[in-house]
Amino acid sequence: ERAAREAAPVTPGALADGTPVPLLANLGSADGAAEAVKLGAEGVGLFRTEFLFLDANTAPSVREQQEQYTRLLSAFPGSKVVVRVLDAGADKPLAFLNANEEENPALGLRGIRALRHSEVILREQLTALAAADAATDADLWVMAPMIATVDETRYFTTLCAELGIRYAGVMVETPSAALIADRILDVAAFASIGTNDLTQYTMAADRLLGTVANLQDPWHPAVLRLVGEVGAAGAERGKPVGICGEAAADPLLAVVLVGLGATSLSMSPSALADVRASLARYTPDDAKAIARAALAAEGAAEAKLAAKDAASEIT
Ligand code: PEP
Ligand code: MG
Repeated sequence: ERAAREAAPVTPGALADGTPVPLLANLGSADGAAEAVKLGAEGVGLFRTEFLFLDANTAPSVREQQEQYTRLLSAFPGSKVVVRVLDAGADKPLAFLNANEEENPALGLRGIRALRHSEVILREQLTALAAADAATDADLWVMAPMIATVDETRYFTTLCAELGIRYAGVMVETPSAALIADRILDVAAFASIGTNDLTQYTMAADRLLGTVANLQDPWHPAVLRLVGEVGAAGAERGKPVGICGEAAADPLLAVVLVGLGATSLSMSPSALADVRASLARYTPDDAKAIARAALAAEGAAEAKLAAKDAASEIT
């Protein structure tokens, strides 16, 4: 009986009325793919590619990268796999890319800025990804980290088109990107909100600094308002808006994020079951009502309480 239970397929993520909310996995290497599938991941919402570059003095070759990406994509036939191009700098420094000492690395040459500065690395990565996509049956989407402007978005999507990537999107991790999400989504095929960095930059609180950890809280209505901006821009254009920061792993916050317009949630695979159970309790209107309660609160703690109260009135 135990074996049967373990083998039973996990149901896809959905709200109480059946509205699908795909639940995806955050992965840091292809090694976690089988476990993620077992835990019911419907695809990958964030594949962090930094592992390929860490501890290296040069970028890995196109062939080496292609092997790793093919291994990942092969684990998800017919499913969406969102790969993030290299996010170097700040909390993820790379010896060969972030050579210059910076006073404020989180505000420095990181993410898409670093890639644009060393374009050959980005070109090689996209070339390897396009080759892996062609060799497998997964549905590859590729996104750029730390986008702040429409110009950066256009730069990235143009390069993706040139190198054979069909779905090119952006991560929304800066308040700027959230505030101009409408214009960015006129150019990009999709957005995925990185709530870890979006919270850091909205609250001006270093995500690595324990002394300001109380401010690094995605429940803060300032962060939620920005998520709402992105959700509205996506809905108007019929473009997907995912969440791939830690916030998506909080079962109640996940409901709030869906109420604000998120169309899929990506998280560490161990969080999938609790988030799936939580979403199934609420209709789309419930989720919107819970989100409204959180938005109207004064601070992060109050928003969480307000969401809890609103949720308890429903179930
Ligand atoms: C984020 O910033 O929320 C995110 C998902 O990316 P990372 O944590 O890798 O910066
Ligand atoms: Mg980030």
